[in-house]
Amino acid sequence: MSTDAAEQTQTFTDLGLRDELLSALTTLGYEEPTPIQAESIPHLIAGRDLLGQAATGTGKTASFALPILDRLQPGSRGDEPSALILVPTRELAMQVSEAVHKYGRDLGARVVPIYGGQPISRQLQALRRGVDVVIATPGRAVDHIKRGTLPLDFIEIVVLDEADEMLDMGFAEDLDAILEATPESRQTVLFSATMPSKIEKLARRHLTDPINIRIAREVAEPGAAPKVRQSAYVVPRSHKPAALGRILDVESPTAAIVFCRTRHEVDQLSETLNGRGYRAEALHGGMSQEARDRVMGRVRAGTAELLIATDVAARGLDIDQLTHVVNYDVPSAPEAYVHRIGRVGRAGREGVAITLAEPREHRLVENIQRVTGQKIAFEKVPTIADLRNRRMELTLATLRESLIDDDLDRYRTIVETLTDEFDLVEIALAAVKLAHEAVGGDDDETEIPEIAPRKSTSYGDRDDRSKPGKFSKDKGAKSGKSGKDGKGADRGDRLSKGDAVRLYFPIGRSARVRPGDLVGAIAGETSLSGRDIGAIEITENFSLVEVPGRAVEEVIGAMKRTTIKGKKITPRRERF
Ligand code: AMP
Repeated sequence: MSTDAAEQTQTFTDLGLRDELLSALTTLGYEEPTPIQAESIPHLIAGRDLLGQAATGTGKTASFALPILDRLQPGSRGDEPSALILVPTRELAMQVSEAVHKYGRDLGARVVPIYGGQPISRQLQALRRGVDVVIATPGRAVDHIKRGTLPLDFIEIVVLDEADEMLDMGFAEDLDAILEATPESRQTVLFSATMPSKIEKLARRHLTDPINIRIAREVAEPGAAPKVRQSAYVVPRSHKPAALGRILDVESPTAAIVFCRTRHEVDQLSETLNGRGYRAEALHGGMSQEARDRVMGRVRAGTAELLIATDVAARGLDIDQLTHVVNYDVPSAPEAYVHRIGRVGRAGREGVAITLAEPREHRLVENIQRVTGQKIAFEKVPTIADLRNRRMELTLATLRESLIDDDLDRYRTIVETLTDEFDLVEIALAAVKLAHEAVGGDDDETEIPEIAPRKSTSYGDRDDRSKPGKFSKDKGAKSGKSGKDGKGADRGDRLSKGDAVRLYFPIGRSARVRPGDLVGAIAGETSLSGRDIGAIEITENFSLVEVPGRAVEEVIGAMKRTTIKGKKITPRRERF
């Protein structure tokens, strides 16, 4: 970080947030601010513009959401919004809106997300009812501004979230136009995972004397990070509990600590893992010292094999027999990662560090690798077949041990009685079946989708796309913006040709599809980012989108979970 504010301020109370927000954070189970929050919140409350480099997973949403909410007047407020948050995709609009709503619950904050793909009438109604914070995708914000339905006269703060993604999706001129339509006196905040020169230019155009916050790029001291086997798994949020269960089944840790972000996550996960047959204990700051001591007693005595904890609760704990550290979420800063994994691999013992990352959090993992100078290998979540093999191995080992060590003579009469009726191998098979079921058997499991980690640097350049902007342009013209035949030449050089596969989407200009809708749907649902997507060609009735060959199946599968312009669209490989 560029200043040392993060070290000085440790609690949300220290950051100067009002009571309603502090109580919401306690209810959510947040124990302390993440580094980006500790550093940015005081500046934002003080009204400064801010240029922040932060990826998903660092806690950046709360960094801007809390100061926005902090300034809401208590009691009755006007109907026009005072804050506008611009985000690249509809998924992020929903996610940010949910977060602002949660944090602002005790303040009665009125939050409205506006994005393409939802009927505009519903959004008009919500805006008319009165709103404090609007979260919008740039295209839909422009639509509303042109209709005169998004009043901007009282906007005090504008946030550009994931600004690099928005530029990659071709929203540069929309952003300029929206910012120019807001009051000049506004506070402006720009968060971006990367800082290419076009982001710096955007910041120079619209931010005034901003505070700069960047994640440290220095490499850690040699030897600062311990030598442990480090791996990461990319897993969609909804599959994380099952994925962790499977990874633990295959890893069979003697004792592991699983780090979660919030108290709720700690409680939920320990329940899930107990349900899976693990002896898991929860440890977090909401528990009394006595309860914590009891938990630690059970962990040290070996009665519990998994300790599920928040960073705060696990601070200072030293557990000798630990073999595995699991990051259920990617830690919000590399320092926290180094600190966590330092609990294993001591004194020449074997240590394993496992990190679960959501598809959008790959950048955080890359950043950790850069800062620590150590490799984190991306692995595939064990499949049902892997799991079955592993369980078979366990059964085999259990039987072998029993054959070597146990006194089996007292079962001889049973076997001899059965041999009158059955073949000896059949009897053995029935016994193996029972033994296998006793060590867990083959529970019914659903397959977890395989998501390849995305490479942020593999594809093409990230230059701005030229596109018509401003409110004067007709939207229909905009969808065909890349030429009258709809060729998306401006994205064309992003993918190296050998890698690119064209997907046919049966939706086109007649459904008012814009490139941003396609990019948004793909980037929102898969591990691809806007810049991984190549040329887009939109014709009257269909669209062709270039994606990296490795991601074809992922994109086709992901479209089952979403809609484009309100329609379920099944893409396929282009046929020649
Ligand atoms: P973001 O980087 O904003 O996408 O946040 C990543 C995740 O961290 C979200 O699930 C948040 O709910 C969670 N989160 C944000 N700040 C904190 C915090 N201080 N303590 C615990 N969890 C947090």
